Formats: sequence, structure tokens, C-alpha cells
Amino acid sequence: MTSTELARAARSHPLAILPLGCTEQHASHLPVDADTYQVERLVRDGARLARERHAVEAVVLPTLPYGPAAEHFGFAGTISVPSELYVGLVKHVLMSALDSGFDRLAVVRGCTGHWVVPGALWDLKAEARRASRMVTIHDLTMETDYRELTKKHLPAAGGGHAGAMETSLLLAGRPELVDADAIVAPTLRSFPERYVDAGEVFLFDEATSTGALGDPSAASAKIGDVLWSDLIGRFADRLKIVAEQDRALGRM
Ligand SMILES: [Zn+2]
Repeated sequence: MTSTELARAARSHPLAILPLGCTEQHASHLPVDADTYQVERLVRDGARLARERHAVEAVVLPTLPYGPAAEHFGFAGTISVPSELYVGLVKHVLMSALDSGFDRLAVVRGCTGHWVVPGALWDLKAEARRASRMVTIHDLTMETDYRELTKKHLPAAGGGHAGAMETSLLLAGRPELVDADAIVAPTLRSFPERYVDAGEVFLFDEATSTGALGDPSAASAKIGDVLWSDLIGRFADRLKIVAEQDRALGRM
């Protein structure tokens, strides 16, 4: 969209959504931009479906391709932005959207490693209020949906980084970038004992033999297609709820 189109669009108070991607190792079988691809497709296709299904409007910002990925330190292809820099980056992108006239903002975290993002959103909310700007900010991360859909469609294999869920989504969407010969179950080293029970902060190369935290063997393009359609449908429905709530507050 052009600057003029965006200024005009902002006047009808659409939700401005920022998809947060990252570039990090996804074992030996998935491309390093797996999370960026997934979050961008979810948000774009979900926003399109929300318009068709619910007449709800959204403007999708360009996806941020880099984020904090320190936990993947040591694996080639990982590009990590320090958390303190990333908080500033996310806040300034969203503040720029505010400066352009958008007053309903959302982010979707495409990676479990985006731990610092919720804090940045609360800071921004308080800063906007301090400047007497009324704004609604939404964290529309689909973590619960991913978990529920994994349980439903891959009950035995489960999810996990570069596991069956993610591998299925990539096999369905971009099969040419999946190295099928490298799809193997990882050996996890004391994972539940050290990292779950004892709460140890870990780097992936200490915890897994391949970089994956789940077994990707059960993945298929067929399951991936079903997962995509469920995820995109759920995201579109969530945009409807957001619009209803913001409308009730008089923001649209
Ligand atoms: Zn991932």
C-alpha cells in the first residue's frame, strides 16, 4: 500500500497486525525461516478470511524476520537479536503505526522464544496512556490453538520445535524446502529432568541431538493441509472477537 492509502485506511480503524518471525535452526530438515513463513501465512491468510467471513478489516505490517534466538546459539543459520534491542525494535515499529493513525494494534509471536514481547506491549500501553493516546493492543499469539490442534491431529507424535506439527505445516506449504531424508527423531538429553523439573535454562545443542525437540517422523503434507485450514480459520474467528471487543469500547 502507498502512504496515502495507509493514511486513508487508518481512518476506518482497522486492526494493524505485526507478525513476528525469526531466523533460527529447525533441525536438519526444515529451513531456518520456518517460523517467519508460518506466522506470515497465518496472519495474511487469516486476515483475508476474516474479511470474507466476518467483514472485519485488518492491515498486515511486513513480518519481522529476525528476533531473539539465543537458545539456538551454536547452530549454523541462527540469527539472534539481543532481547533488549528487540524490545526497542518492536515498540518503535508499533509506535510508528500509532504515528500513522492506527489506534488498534496487534502482534502475533511466531516463535516460542519471543518471551520479551508481552513486557514490551505493556510498556507501550502505559507509554501511550501517559501521552493521552487511547489505544488497544492485542497479543494474538496462537500458542493454545497450536497445542490443541497438535493434540487433535497428531496425538501420538505431539509438537515441539521442528517436530511433527511444524514439519507437517512446512510439507504442506513449502515441500521443496524440506529435506525429507533428514527427518529423524532427536535424542533428547535429560530433557524432562533438567529443563522441565529443575527449570534449567538451556541451549538447544545441550538438550537435543538434532536441534528438534519433537519427533518429526509422523509429519505429512496431508495433516499439514488440515492444520493450516484449522489454524487460519481460528485466527480469522479471533479477529472477529477482537473487532467486537474494540467496537464495544467505542474504538471503531
Ligand atoms: Zn519453529
